[in-house]
Amino acid sequence: MAIYCGIAYRRKSFWCYRLLSTYVTKMRYLFELKEDDDACKKALQTGAFYLFHNLSPMLQKSEPQYLVPKYSLLELERLLGKLGQNTQRIEDSVLIGCSEQHDAWFALDIGLNHSSSINASLQKPEMETELRGSFMDLRKAFLQLNAKDVSLLSTAQALLRWHDAHQFCSRSGQPTKKNVAGSKRICPANNIIYYPQMAPVVITLVSDGPRCLLARQSSFPKGVYSALAGFCDIGLS
Ligand SMILES: [Zn+2]
Repeated sequence: MAIYCGIAYRRKSFWCYRLLSTYVTKMRYLFELKEDDDACKKALQTGAFYLFHNLSPMLQKSEPQYLVPKYSLLELERLLGKLGQNTQRIEDSVLIGCSEQHDAWFALDIGLNHSSSINASLQKPEMETELRGSFMDLRKAFLQLNAKDVSLLSTAQALLRWHDAHQFCSRSGQPTKKNVAGSKRICPANNIIYYPQMAPVVITLVSDGPRCLLARQSSFPKGVYSALAGFCDIGLS
């Protein structure tokens, strides 16, 4: 029994170490891509792309849940070409993660018009037919996605939203330019660097035995309730 426990413990330690080591090498690789434009350009060539349209992700229905398709660079170029779009739009992609084998994942919004895009917004129905899926409101699809996809799509949506809202320098008014990974934006006029912000929030579950207090906003999809939550304000105590 003691020998068995010893082996089990060593196995568990080995897997914990391996998980930790995989996590660390992944984070190091992502950090490198964020800091090195050339390395990130290289990663774009072999990367996979998640598509959004006005911040809604492309999803494909596969009962009982949604699947999140990802596309290779070649597939994306072919798709944009088919719809008469310039592939320069791909430069608006942002890095959102990578696989354990270090295949980089990017998100691209083909509905938003960034300053670097020379094209008009693509027509949503045309794209949906072509991609055999729908651009869905992420909040409405939350419960029918697996946890990993929810986390990845939330990261992507937040980053795409941040880029869309930070096209210009708040000091000089000049257009800002994103680095290849999309981990920052730089103003060429005064070299101010802007990084994506995080907003601290608090969420609390008020419970009373088996019951808990939930709330909902009128904007929530039908049947969706939330624990009480709110953003923290500056100086709030
Ligand atoms: Zn500026």
